Amino acid sequence: MLQLRKITKVYKTKQKTKVQALTDINYEFKEKGFYAILGKSGSGKTTLLNIIAGLDKPTSGEVIFEGQAFSSFKGKDFDAYRNTCVGFVFQEFNLLENLNVYKNVSLALELQGRKATEAEIIEVLRKVGIEDLIYRNIYELSGGQKQRVAIARALIKKPRIIIADEPTGSLDQEIAVEIFEILKELSKEYLVILVTHNEEYAETYAEQILHLAEGRQKEEVSLEEIEEENRVELEYKKSLSIFASLKMGFTNLRINVVRLVICIILSTISFSCFGFCITVSSYSEREIALNSIVVDDYIDPNVIANWDVGENGRNSLPITKEKLQKINNDLQKNYKGISQVYAKSCFLKSVFEHNNDQLSLINPCGGLEVNEEYLTKLGFSLYGNFPQVEDEIIITEYYYHTFTRLGYKEDSIEIPQEKITKDILLGKPIYLSGFKSENPKKFKICGIIDTGFDVKQYDALYRYDVNSKTYAHDFNLVQQYKNASYHSLVYLKEGALKACFEHYDETNGYTYIIDEMPKNKEKVAEIYDYLNDISSLNNRYVFCTQLIPNINDLIVKLKLYQFVSGILGGIASIFSVCLLYSLLSFTIENKKKEMGVLRALGAKARTIFVMFSSEGIYVNFVSLILAYLGSSLIVLYFNHFLKYQNGIRVEIYHFNVVQYLILLGVAIAVTILAIAVPVIKVVRKSPAEAIRMEIK
Ligand code: ADP
Ligand code: MG
Repeated sequence: MLQLRKITKVYKTKQKTKVQALTDINYEFKEKGFYAILGKSGSGKTTLLNIIAGLDKPTSGEVIFEGQAFSSFKGKDFDAYRNTCVGFVFQEFNLLENLNVYKNVSLALELQGRKATEAEIIEVLRKVGIEDLIYRNIYELSGGQKQRVAIARALIKKPRIIIADEPTGSLDQEIAVEIFEILKELSKEYLVILVTHNEEYAETYAEQILHLAEGRQKEEVSLEEIEEENRVELEYKKSLSIFASLKMGFTNLRINVVRLVICIILSTISFSCFGFCITVSSYSEREIALNSIVVDDYIDPNVIANWDVGENGRNSLPITKEKLQKINNDLQKNYKGISQVYAKSCFLKSVFEHNNDQLSLINPCGGLEVNEEYLTKLGFSLYGNFPQVEDEIIITEYYYHTFTRLGYKEDSIEIPQEKITKDILLGKPIYLSGFKSENPKKFKICGIIDTGFDVKQYDALYRYDVNSKTYAHDFNLVQQYKNASYHSLVYLKEGALKACFEHYDETNGYTYIIDEMPKNKEKVAEIYDYLNDISSLNNRYVFCTQLIPNINDLIVKLKLYQFVSGILGGIASIFSVCLLYSLLSFTIENKKKEMGVLRALGAKARTIFVMFSSEGIYVNFVSLILAYLGSSLIVLYFNHFLKYQNGIRVEIYHFNVVQYLILLGVAIAVTILAIAVPVIKVVRKSPAEAIRMEIK
């Protein structure tokens, strides 16, 4: 049934020397019977056995199994051969210590994709005389019992050949005899090939002996000529399903929980860090601006400024009448121009004087010429009257509230803040100067309109402490409101600007233009994109929302974060590869022998791959899920930090589907990179080498 023709095996050692382990071995094994390969240690017995078992390949020569040459076998043919035709019994038993007797035996069938029934297992255990130990753990067995389990494991597959490498080498004599008896009994049904250095046993039990000395056989054997048959495909039994392999891998995990947990934690941290980094490196200035406009139910009206953003900061450029006309035409809007005016301090108390920024709070951002129809259209409610003459103005609730806190003082009229009412303010004078800062002109308050200003925000100003940044966020909010809203304008009769301010010149254009903000993001985007189109580097048309005055500073920061996070993300991913790699190499280093044994039992390389990479897969899978959470949290926190720091209301960064997918992709890549290398390194070794590795 099995012929060895001129088998020669030369090992190359790491030091590049050659070891001639076998020289020209010719031999023939029949269907059944007890064969012994006898020789001293180092004579090449194991080498020959490994070649017969298809665990290793000869350097030259040929093995013919049932008329088929091994040289015509492919890798998977060897898997199938080992899986179905060969039952292996090792000197070191090589049972899987973390499985019990039942599982160890049934594994041999599972590797063929079959489930063993309890009856089948009991039957083989009975053959080797240990059916009562069926649910014992391996470490609870004696050496002799372990070897019986190993024989049972070989038998359950109903193989053609049982190969035993010094199966009694680790056993007492008495026990050894029992094992030999069992093998002898089996040789009535199977071809049993046994390796031993014990001449006595060989002589007693074997029917045929192949004597080996220094890799050569003692007796001449003439081989029967056999016709080489056409190659027939070996029957493939199904292999262990991927699911079952993963499950087995999972069983292995329990061994080292602490290491696993540490690994998951570190992995989660580095994935989270990576997720955060890819989020930070992908921001959109447009999205930030648009979101900042539409946030909070479109409170901000649509104020547009024209800026020259140069190295010396921001200079306001006037928007000419022609430009205003064109914008209104192109956008089908009804923008109106605002001209900057300054108020002479008209407050009794001056709490903000120590800080320029804050002083500007009590200055109007500009004067807007309106008529009754326009104000009605905006839906503001008016207390008092519409300006009848050119030196009458309407102030807003915003100013009314300022007076109620700071009192009123003008033309030697002083009203303390607690006495301020709307009625008292009506008719009182206020001095304004035009944007060319000429002598202030006297105006008379004729009405107070409610522009819907949120007075609660205003309170924040009073809590503001210049020495701490505690209320910076609130402060910014109010200040930006003021710069970009109907709240902080004074309203004049049409034509009043020209009539009251000598130097007012319509051709100079307006400081700002204002209209209601559209109610949906697409419409806002339309205007935003339009403004971008008509802007040039030194002539930028921008929305004055609460964010926009800060956006240039913000973008500089965001670019820096992007750069730093790029580097950090790179480090994080390299770190996680290294981490997983070392975890897996460690696992694999410990499991090399187990892998070899499984391969000897006929497990396909793929099965081994899945089984031993599963640790890494689980670690990464769990870490990935945790990292989604982790990244989202870091992004959330960072957004919060940026909002606070920059006084903005919108989320800058979004950990979205795209980032999820990138993170997933990276996790998969990391897993493959870190797992594939060590596992493939082992799988590619011949199983014989893998088994030997640990025995040493
Ligand atoms: P036995 O099983 O009879 O003790 P082996 O078949 O294990 O002998 O080894 C035969 C010879 O081949 C020995 O000299 C051994 O040192 C050598 N040998 C075995 N495996 C290797 C290997 N992987 N690389 C180099 N030499 C090896
Ligand atoms: Mg040996």
